[in-house]
Amino acid sequence: MPDPSRILERCDALARHSELPGGLTRVFLSPESRAASELVLGWMREAGMQAGLDAIGNCAGRYEGAQRGAPCLMLGSHLDTVRDAGRYDGMLGVISAIECVHALNAQKKRLPFAVEVLGFGDEEGVRFGTTLLGSRAVAGVLDMNILETRDAKGVSIREALRDFGLDPDAIPRLGRKRGQVLAYAELHIEQGPVLEAEGLPVGVVTAINGFSRLRVTLTGEAGHAGTVPMRLRRDTLAAAAECVLAVERIAKSDAELVGTVGRLEAKPGAINVIPGEVMFTIDFRAPRDDLREDAVSRSLSEIRSIAGKRKIQTHVEPLQSFGVTECAEWLMAQMDRAVAAEGVRVRRLPSGAGHDGMALKAITDIAMLFVRCKGGVSHNPAEAITRDDAAIGARALYNFVSSFDAGRRLPA
Ligand SMILES: [Zn+2]
Repeated sequence: MPDPSRILERCDALARHSELPGGLTRVFLSPESRAASELVLGWMREAGMQAGLDAIGNCAGRYEGAQRGAPCLMLGSHLDTVRDAGRYDGMLGVISAIECVHALNAQKKRLPFAVEVLGFGDEEGVRFGTTLLGSRAVAGVLDMNILETRDAKGVSIREALRDFGLDPDAIPRLGRKRGQVLAYAELHIEQGPVLEAEGLPVGVVTAINGFSRLRVTLTGEAGHAGTVPMRLRRDTLAAAAECVLAVERIAKSDAELVGTVGRLEAKPGAINVIPGEVMFTIDFRAPRDDLREDAVSRSLSEIRSIAGKRKIQTHVEPLQSFGVTECAEWLMAQMDRAVAAEGVRVRRLPSGAGHDGMALKAITDIAMLFVRCKGGVSHNPAEAITRDDAAIGARALYNFVSSFDAGRRLPA
């Protein structure tokens, strides 16, 4: 059975590879990510897998099934972090998956399918502002033009891959075909407070919420804070304040919807000048696409009406949007049984955050298992899980893998 002490020790060991002294920051294709990858590849080999870095810098390990070359059950998560991150977001899923294979190998158990473990190199997208590079490459849906994207120092992804000793031209060959991957399953910390509130160590994910991101620019007129009378002003920051509250009000109108204005910049940004231009971002997420799309259109019409009354111009730029990624019912049913086998009440819940499964859905069905985290906190050094929860999570994942039934998807 998976060993929870080793899982937590390995999360600690990976956390020591950080560019931030005393904290954890590990971005795509950095010296720290190389050191972390070497550790992970070593653990994969120790667990009986063939392992190596693939062309986009993912740690890829394969544990053959009873017959060599059989289709695989893919497990994984990511190894990159946000800035000043916690040590479990991503890494716990990779390490728990390796631990499951370790347990199979210790019993010399071969399954009717191979098990592959992927430690994705870029999920958070901190360095290049591009998320899910690793899983999109494996799913064969990475647009190669993205390799020209540059980081803050002007280094392109293509150059960074070469400097890392990888061959960018081999990336298209990473894409798996439908049928080669029976399913993708990921264990991840919840990053929310639901499981903790209900006293449950793990939960079965139903869907990864879709999201819409937009940038709104309001243009009014800058002016002297002392001389322009209030009735003649076209103050964009006062208008933006109304817009922020409108987004919040719309987001609160449905329990399944969340909306955030996470960035707001006022120009020229001086104490004695009326702000002539404001830029702010909007992020809406929901487990239903119609709900999210409706929230976006209601927000935009409110913003236009607020701006219109103040004689302010609006410019809206859609940044990114992604539909809901549903977890497959046949996999959720098997994950439910894997959780129930640990004596835990089965709780199904959606994921508010994005995950690699969004990319892998292009080639296979996906499942996710959430592990309770303290206070629902993630993307923060305060991120914490208990040893007991790590144990239940890894055992449930092991149950899922060892009794995985691909049904008609696996040739007899
Ligand atoms: Zn994550």
